[in-house]
Amino acid sequence: KLVVLGSVNADHVLQVPSFPRPGETLHGRNYQVIPGGKGANQAVAAARLHADIGFIACVGDDAFGINIRENFKIDGIDITAVKMQPNCPTGIAMIQVSDSGENSICLSAEANAKLTATAIAPDLERIRQADYLLMQLETPLCGIEKAAQVAKAANTVVILNPAPARALSDELLACVNIITPNETEAEVLTGITVTDADSAQCAANVLHAKGIKTVMITLGAKGVWVSQNGNGDIIAGFRVEATDTTAAGDTFNGAFVTGLLEGLPLESAIKFAHAAAAISVTRFGAQTSIPTRDEVDDFLAQ
Ligand code: ADP
Repeated sequence: KLVVLGSVNADHVLQVPSFPRPGETLHGRNYQVIPGGKGANQAVAAARLHADIGFIACVGDDAFGINIRENFKIDGIDITAVKMQPNCPTGIAMIQVSDSGENSICLSAEANAKLTATAIAPDLERIRQADYLLMQLETPLCGIEKAAQVAKAANTVVILNPAPARALSDELLACVNIITPNETEAEVLTGITVTDADSAQCAANVLHAKGIKTVMITLGAKGVWVSQNGNGDIIAGFRVEATDTTAAGDTFNGAFVTGLLEGLPLESAIKFAHAAAAISVTRFGAQTSIPTRDEVDDFLAQ
């Protein structure tokens, strides 16, 4: 059983010719509200790939929050611990996508800010019973730290996707079994700029020294640098025509843990995750881009 703890966002996406400067007004187009949030994306990825998964999260009591909770259920997620917050909006992301393909994103935590250590008290037994706990950094650190401590004490394997980038305490890192930063997040955690194999391994070694056994630095289209106890190598991804890399990392994380849950060895779980993430970058949006199990199996069979 997998437990994902994390954020839920409504992504308000607007296509823009270029990013407006302060004081400037521009006309955008193609406004869409797309389900997102790193926690929800990773939970949905795992569920669409048929993991047995429960989600710990907070949504608002607005229309988006009510609907998304039902959609999680349709995707096969156990929503017992998806808490609805009274008089509170669901978390949001205001996303501008420029015609040149760049993103500009502003987040507001809203209901996500309520996922504190106190709020997850009823869910700790769920974490103890789980085989894996997957978390990110879009919800309050006190809740993440509490969940990590409880998981560690119960031998639940803790996987942390340290995104968005921020510095973390040694106490939290010591509870983590597997960490999956991208290059930016690896730099914020270690102070080392990842540009090649040597620098990737140096960054991984800093994280090993904090007590983390498995370090996986995702490198976008290039794949992932995987280091276990100081021995690292690159595992390449799949070549696809990318149209929107939103949720690539989230799909990768959700799929990777699903592979582990099925008993795959690390390298096979990573290949499975590369396939799921590669499909996601060929499609627009966050949860709209996450593939089903059949799609990933077909992709791998090609
Ligand atoms: P994040 O989205 O968190 O910044 P990355 O950009 O490192 O994470 O991507 C995570 C994973 O998504 C990669 O390891 C790879 O599997 C997949 N991926 C990302 N971009 C591409 C791409 N352009 N082509 C194929 N796979 C990609």
